[in-house]
Amino acid sequence: MRDFDPDAIAFATGHFIAGSNIDGPGERISVTRPSDARTYADLPVASAELIDRAVEDATHTVKRSGWATQPPRDRARAMRRWAELIEAKSEELGRLEALGSTRPIAQAVTGDVASTAEGIRFFAEWADKLGGDVAATRADHFGMIVSEPYGVVGAITPWNFPLSMASWKVGPALAAGNAIVLKPSELTPFSTVRLAELAVEAGIPPGIFNVVQGTGAVTGDALSRHPGIAKLSFTGSTRTGIAVMKAAAETGIKPVTLELGGKSPQLVFADADLDKAADCIASSLLANAGQACVAGSRLIVQRQATDTLVSALLARLSRIAPGPTWKSSTGFAPIISEIQARRIDAILARSRAQGAEVLLGGGRIEGHGGAFYQPTLLAGVDTDTAAVREEIFGPVLTIQSFDTEEEGFALADHPEYGLAAGVYTSDLGRGLRAVRQIKAGTVWINRYNRTLDFILPTGGYKSSGIGKDLGRQAVEANLRHKTVLIDIGA
Ligand code: NAD
Repeated sequence: MRDFDPDAIAFATGHFIAGSNIDGPGERISVTRPSDARTYADLPVASAELIDRAVEDATHTVKRSGWATQPPRDRARAMRRWAELIEAKSEELGRLEALGSTRPIAQAVTGDVASTAEGIRFFAEWADKLGGDVAATRADHFGMIVSEPYGVVGAITPWNFPLSMASWKVGPALAAGNAIVLKPSELTPFSTVRLAELAVEAGIPPGIFNVVQGTGAVTGDALSRHPGIAKLSFTGSTRTGIAVMKAAAETGIKPVTLELGGKSPQLVFADADLDKAADCIASSLLANAGQACVAGSRLIVQRQATDTLVSALLARLSRIAPGPTWKSSTGFAPIISEIQARRIDAILARSRAQGAEVLLGGGRIEGHGGAFYQPTLLAGVDTDTAAVREEIFGPVLTIQSFDTEEEGFALADHPEYGLAAGVYTSDLGRGLRAVRQIKAGTVWINRYNRTLDFILPTGGYKSSGIGKDLGRQAVEANLRHKTVLIDIGA
């Protein structure tokens, strides 16, 4: 991967509705690059009227284009062509992703873009494998459960992995035969539009994948409460998820999928391969500088292994390569914004006041235009410490020790969140007991983080969410089921 000049990248700055780039009208906001804090573009904010137009266009497109009614293999073929086009444009898409987000170019091309293409391909393969059931009924009846797309679905995505988060929403929606109106984060809005343009270039009818730009308060809210959106899928913070659910409910009834925040434990037993555990924990914390929903941000380690593991982590977390996202040598991401960096400062300050002891880091990395945060290890914490309770979304790991298995399981359980958990042990029985005990949507044993196995759904327990992205479950969530009962005579 080569370095690139961030000022030499061209991109569309507007909405993408019915296959056309629409810039404006109305309010605009400026968009800043996290790497150097420079404003590099401005963005129109879609009003409720523009959302009306996008939803209306999408509704007509679903009826006119035959997207839902064509032979499903044709739908799959168009989506596969789209995936190929994404791969063919991986350098261009990767630069656009790296330009305005926290994703370093070296990871954006081979990681984010590659997995976006592969995710679209995964969902394309479902298009002609969907169907319903024949139900057991009395002999003079014939009962069927048929699945149907919703029509127009809505999606709202966060800033941390803009392309792959969009693909998780659009892939299953389109494979199931829906059109989608998607609002990306106003902090990282542009790569999603290019993704939608490529869909049209690949032969997906214009108006099937629409992108509306804007803030959460105006555009996200209008999309959530639009009665023409038959189903809504949201990824973002728990606080916003609550607002989205409320807004959706105020204008009718629709299913809402919520992929929300996390505070995931890394539960390490003394019988584990501690070197391997340290590798997994460090790479989870360093990935996107901790700005990942599944970041394993709470180390819970058996007392006799604590010193060894903490030394191994100190060594690994000290080897970072911060820099602008457009340099190929950059391995460690900036924090998305100064506001977010100040949030991290504030949680650390409160945690210190509560007695937390900083073993590593604890502050900013200076010398870059943007906000960069040192990998930080905090000891002397308990379940009431702010850094243990609150999702930080930065490279901060808290350390708690335990003696017995029961204590370990109890500490791993977070009162609010249940997105993911890592368990490290050489005792398979203990690993499986952990799976039963930990209330989280995903439990990884002797490894951490998602793979390209898109068949594995992802989603949270408790305040980490409702429903699943990825897997068969994500496709099914984009379909509704109709019961048919036919009198076929005696
Ligand atoms: P956020 O909640 O601030 O914003 C997410 C999206 O919601 C953005 O597009 C934003 O514009 C929009 N939004 C904001 N207010 C809104 C409102 N009132 N109505 C409708 N939409 C609104 O989250 P973020 O800071 O962009 O992302 C970080 C959060 O996302 C973290 O909490 C992280 O854990 C979570 N996340 C979860 C997953 C998952 O799979 N569970 C994946 C990635 C990120």
